[in-house]
Amino acid sequence: MAQLVGKMLRHLLLLSYIYSAQSIHDQYITVDSYLGYKVVRVIPKTQEQVEFLINLPEQFLDFWTEPGLYRNVDIMTNPEWFDDLAKELEFAQLTYSEIITDVQKIVDEEKMELERIKIVNEGNFSLFSYHEYPEIVAHLEFLAETIPEVEVEIIGQSWEGQEMVVLKICKNGCGNKPAIWIDGGIHAREWISPATTLWTIHEVLNADPWFTESLDWYFLPVFNPDGYQFTHEHTRLWRKTRSFHNSLLGCRGTDANRNFGYHWNEGGSSGDKCFDTYHGPEAFSEPETANVRDFIMARNGTVKYYNNMHSYSQLVLLSWGYTTDPPPNYMEFVSNLPCSFYHKPMALPIVQYVISLPSNSTIWASDWALGEAGIPFSFSMELRDTGKHGFLLPPSFIEPVGKETWEFHKTVAMAILEEYKQFSTEI
Ligand SMILES: [Zn+2]
Repeated sequence: MAQLVGKMLRHLLLLSYIYSAQSIHDQYITVDSYLGYKVVRVIPKTQEQVEFLINLPEQFLDFWTEPGLYRNVDIMTNPEWFDDLAKELEFAQLTYSEIITDVQKIVDEEKMELERIKIVNEGNFSLFSYHEYPEIVAHLEFLAETIPEVEVEIIGQSWEGQEMVVLKICKNGCGNKPAIWIDGGIHAREWISPATTLWTIHEVLNADPWFTESLDWYFLPVFNPDGYQFTHEHTRLWRKTRSFHNSLLGCRGTDANRNFGYHWNEGGSSGDKCFDTYHGPEAFSEPETANVRDFIMARNGTVKYYNNMHSYSQLVLLSWGYTTDPPPNYMEFVSNLPCSFYHKPMALPIVQYVISLPSNSTIWASDWALGEAGIPFSFSMELRDTGKHGFLLPPSFIEPVGKETWEFHKTVAMAILEEYKQFSTEI
């Protein structure tokens, strides 16, 4: 009883904070500085501790990684809320370590580094840097103008009316070969993801001709252009789209990953418009997710590999995410993969990626790709790192991440050709 009363008092205390203080996510709308913001790490060792973290008031916290048993859970907090968070963690017997002491310092360093690279490259596009959305679009258009088998397609517009650009590499035309879809930047702040997608385009263009003679490639480097540009111009750690669904508090944006229409709103996402995990008013409410759905469904089952790229944690996430049960074709799916799949991408020379088997993870986009679009090789990937820099990964990492990710794509591409080699003659 005493414990229950204590718990209730604690929640009353939290509620008083909710109504007296500006939340961390509201601050994202108006305040552009992370001065004194910290990131702390805890590793829950019991399911109760996981539940405890899930139930912390998200208004004051920004979960950089999601709570899970024996996982690194990284939480950003503003200076005002830090002491209370420390008390909360102590209450749950969760020992924390401070992994970033001043987020703004790293944001400033990143800005300076990007400026330096711009000067070195005399303003020209560099694969070794992070770019604003218009620069990326101009680069994709340049590739389409200069390389015969490359074209760009506007697959629709974002909430704010920006064009969503897919780059297609199809030798002798699209649609008569098994196809690969890779997208980046569904979450705005995960800058390594669009940069890696751009890197992959260049790997494909410079690879053995087999890769383009046997397969069609579709790339959407920036899935969420409004959010992505917002991270460049205003708020570096914005995650969602920029849509507005009549929030009384003025909160904006939907988590596009959680907006996909496959087991939508069945847990692991939020109905609160101010939360970073807001799933939207209905499945595919966001023009960005609807545009991707329409493009993929119009490929008439030719897409055999879907990869939805995120950061960070160095994980390859297999379906299903919405349940711990494996998909019906799981054994068939796994046995179709060459043995090297298990080893090669895992034992890359520089870092390790861990394959996460079906395990209630948060992969709505690739679950939809497998469950609804019928794409047999559907993955989500969490790129580097494991938390030293988190979302603020220096641009010097683009090359190694690009190279190791290409190894993964190559392995899957070869598995697809092995599995669907009769494909092109059949259709
Ligand atoms: Zn993400």
